[in-house]
Amino acid sequence: MHKNQPKETTIAIIGAGIAGLSCATRLKALGFQVQLYEKSLGVSGRMSTRNNDHWSGDHGAQYFTARDPLFINQVKEWINAEVAAIWNPRLKVFKANQWQDSTATENRYVGIPAMNSPGKHLAKALPIEFNQTIDRVAYAQNKWQLHSLESGDIHQQFDWLVVALPAPQALALTKSIDKSIEKFTIDANMQGCWTVMASFTDNLNLPFDAAFINNESISWISRNNSKPKRIGLETWVIHCNPTWSQEWIELDKDEAAKRILDCATKLGLDCRTAKISIHRWRYASGHTNPIPVFRLHEDLKLGFCGDWLNGGRVEGAWLSGYQLACQIEKVQK
Ligand SMILES: Cc1cc2nc3c(=O)[nH]c(=O)nc-3n(C[C@H](O)[C@H](O)[C@H](O)COP(=O)(O)OP(=O)(O)OC[C@H]3O[C@@H](n4cnc5c(N)ncnc54)[C@H](O)[C@@H]3O)c2cc1C
Repeated sequence: MHKNQPKETTIAIIGAGIAGLSCATRLKALGFQVQLYEKSLGVSGRMSTRNNDHWSGDHGAQYFTARDPLFINQVKEWINAEVAAIWNPRLKVFKANQWQDSTATENRYVGIPAMNSPGKHLAKALPIEFNQTIDRVAYAQNKWQLHSLESGDIHQQFDWLVVALPAPQALALTKSIDKSIEKFTIDANMQGCWTVMASFTDNLNLPFDAAFINNESISWISRNNSKPKRIGLETWVIHCNPTWSQEWIELDKDEAAKRILDCATKLGLDCRTAKISIHRWRYASGHTNPIPVFRLHEDLKLGFCGDWLNGGRVEGAWLSGYQLACQIEKVQK
């Protein structure tokens, strides 16, 4: 417990993706009383995995890199806890209609046995209420009050509020609180992503495990089973690029799948014998520029964290939550 920290200071955190989890973990270590609210039934948000009886696929983040010393330490801890590992795919690049070997050498990490494992590991030490879609917040008499779609008014009131949601969802929840919120959330310009998972009863024996694709509707394909500790049928994950996805975000799912699989066939990934599952991410990627890391309205005791405030990836999201927690502690002292 931090000596100067009144342990009764309470903080509500909305969203249990990696940013919310990291913020909560740090705040708890600094002596705050935290409470997370998550609309889904599990943690990790876009670091997620779709499971089926016979196959599974990481249909959000594919891997993460670690550059900042703080995050490198966190990844080391995850590796020691056996919830993350290095992934060494045979990696290709498709460019100007040609396949090339990737020359990238940076370590790529994945959660094990699934992408949501690091988040689940963090969540073990945190109080989280699931199936709570926070749809209203209000600040009155120096206290935050929350309302959820599923349970109505949340009984507890809080000294601080942390919003750890994608920019458009953060805006929808807080725009009535302060006018300046609209500008910085819109600047993130978050785009959607169409994702297809294709599972096969036989291995395809393609000459690569993952590939970056240029100038096609598809931008990435990967063999999920090439990641460590995956079991089940051979499953390929296909992501479309942000521009194409955003343009066609309202397509009917069957029509989107048809167009994506036509492109996959052109790239040599023939999915005619595969079982297909499709997911529409409405807010997949995007970030503000320049990068503020997090945002804190000290007068309102209101903070924002998430990937979109810090470069738009897993590492940025984790750091955004961590740094926001450190700043709250400084202000609170
Ligand atoms: C298709 C795709 C591919 C990606 N690939 C990569 C990659 O290869 N490498 C990489 O580093 N990053 C990748 N990313 C980005 C990475 O997943 C994100 O940067 C990171 O997971 C964001 O974490 P976050 O905590 O900021 O947000 P999120 O993970 O979105 O967490 C927000 C949480 O808030 C919850 N929530 C939303 N609204 C409410 C509400 N009203 N009340 C309560 N809870 C709510 C959500 O359910 C979610 O759990 C990818 C993302 C997608 C979608």
